[in-house]
Amino acid sequence: MRHLLSIEQLDRRTIERLCDRAAAFEEVGERDIKKVPALRGRTVLNLFYEASTRTRSSFELAAKRLSADVVNFIASGSSVEKGESLKDTVLTLSAHRPDCIVIRCPWAGAPALLPRWTDAAVVNAGDGKHEHPTQALLDVYTLRRRLGALDGARIWIVGDVMHSRVARSNILAFRAMGAHVTLAGPPTLLPRDVEELGVEIRSDLRDLRRADVVYALRMQRERMTEAHVPSLREYAAVYQIDSRRLGPRQLLMHPGPVNRGVELSGDVVDSPQSLILEQVAAGVVVRMAVLYEVLATARAEDPVTEPQPA
Ligand code: ASP
Repeated sequence: MRHLLSIEQLDRRTIERLCDRAAAFEEVGERDIKKVPALRGRTVLNLFYEASTRTRSSFELAAKRLSADVVNFIASGSSVEKGESLKDTVLTLSAHRPDCIVIRCPWAGAPALLPRWTDAAVVNAGDGKHEHPTQALLDVYTLRRRLGALDGARIWIVGDVMHSRVARSNILAFRAMGAHVTLAGPPTLLPRDVEELGVEIRSDLRDLRRADVVYALRMQRERMTEAHVPSLREYAAVYQIDSRRLGPRQLLMHPGPVNRGVELSGDVVDSPQSLILEQVAAGVVVRMAVLYEVLATARAEDPVTEPQPA
């Protein structure tokens, strides 16, 4: 795999291979010196045009744990503010000869343009409402650790599906792994063509208890150009996942950042059913696996190279 642009490009075998490699990297984080030399001498450039806490920190940590050099480029405070285009920014930064560019941006599909302007491997860290492939991989990884396999698991994705790149990538990944996916939320926040992705649609949470996993989405107010719900209070009254709606054996996930009191009540966020911090931790090993895949095994047909010991 030369680039990771979308989950659409991955089959089940590849998702499993990435998860298995991520599992092999777990042990690196438990060492006193949390480093292996796998990507020594390689340069990873994080190019972030949108806010990020988890994704940016975990890509940086992942690259450093593999001994790569990391350059963090944040659009605010750069020449982007002087009007420099994406193309010119990528051409400019490519003059530094990065081996991998990790890009987050508000423009759907933009990461797929980068290979025209750079020789670096490209990893999509979230592009507008389109995809967030590494989030989906870390969510599959987290669930595999909990459930063993996802085959037959009933996963409900609840909330603002319309504006969520996570929903799109996760539907593709969960289905590829054999799960049954239901989307639930206000009809105004469910895209019209979403049934084509092979999911069930619900406009209420009456049958939520049938789910094995409840995956809540953030209300993405920054992407809303009109009012999709009467008010956040009314949204919460019907769709908030709280301890009345969440059964004791159901697992709870959320990609972060959480709006406490909107899509989730504070008590379920902090409950033992919540996998939210496990998802964050999984982000580091899964992104190590992705960087390793595009940089260390990129040109091999069926990579067999394993991480090297320190
Ligand atoms: N952090 C995720 C994303 O970047 C989810 C969110 O922002 O709600 O898409």
